[in-house]
Amino acid sequence: MSMMEKAKRDRLADNWNSVVQDVAQAATDAGRDPDSVCIIGVTKYVDATVTAAVCDAGCRHLGENRPQVLWEKAETMTLDSVVQWHLIGHLQRNKVRRVLRHHPIIHSIDSQRLLAAVADESQIRNTQNEEPDVPVLLEVNISGEDAKTGMSPELIAQLVGSNLPVGIRVIGIMAMAGWGTQGDLAQAQFAAARELRDRLESETGQSLPELSMGMSGDFREAIAEGATMVRIGSRLYEGVVDLTH
Ligand SMILES: *Cc1c(COP(=O)(O)O)cnc(C)c1O
Repeated sequence: MSMMEKAKRDRLADNWNSVVQDVAQAATDAGRDPDSVCIIGVTKYVDATVTAAVCDAGCRHLGENRPQVLWEKAETMTLDSVVQWHLIGHLQRNKVRRVLRHHPIIHSIDSQRLLAAVADESQIRNTQNEEPDVPVLLEVNISGEDAKTGMSPELIAQLVGSNLPVGIRVIGIMAMAGWGTQGDLAQAQFAAARELRDRLESETGQSLPELSMGMSGDFREAIAEGATMVRIGSRLYEGVVDLTH
C-alpha cells in the first residue's frame, strides 16, 4: 500500500467532518434527528490506502459499487469487524456467494432473479453457519430513464405484495435521481420514492424503514424527503484525489 501524505489525510478528515455537519444541518432543517441519517462513504473511486483514511476520519459505513472491489478491499484490509459494507451497484448472480461473506447491506437489488439468488445463497449460509438473513433494499427506477438501473414501482409493489423469499430481509427502497437532475426536480423524484415506500407499508404491512437516496450533489433534497441513508462519494475526495481522469 502506498503512503498518504499527512496534508491529504487531514484534508480528507476535514471533508468528512464537513459532510457530517451538512448532513446534520439538512436533517435539522427537515425537522429530523441527525442520528436518523446514516452516512455511507462511497469508496469506489479510491484505492485501499485512501479507503483506510476514510475509516480513520471516522466513517464506519463504506459503499462500493463493484462486488469484486468490495471483497478485494474487505479481504486485504480486514475491515469487516470495523465497518459495515454497503453494496450500491449491480450484483451479478455469480458474485453473490463471495460478496455475502462480508455481510454487506445490499442496496441494489434490481431484479426478482437477483433477489431470489441472494435469498438462496443466504439460506445456505443460514443452515451452515446460522448467519442472519441478508438485509437488502429494492432499487427503484424512479426517474423512468432507460439508462438508469432499478425496477419499476409496479414491479416493486408486486414483489413486496407477494411472499418474499426466506433468507433476505427487505429493509427499504433505494433510489437515484435521473442524470443531471438537481434541486427541485431531484427532490420530486425522492418524494416519489418515499411515497412508494409509504404506500407499500400501508398496503402490505411490511415495514420498510430505510430510504437510501442522496449523493454528494443532492443529499439535502433527499434528506428533506426522508432519506435514512445517504451515499456520499466525490465530496469526500475534494483536494485529496483528482477524480477528473
Ligand atoms: C458513485 C455513487 C454514489 C456517490 O456519488 P457521488 O456523487 O460521488 O457522491 C452514490 N450512489 C451510487 C449508487 C453510486 O454509484
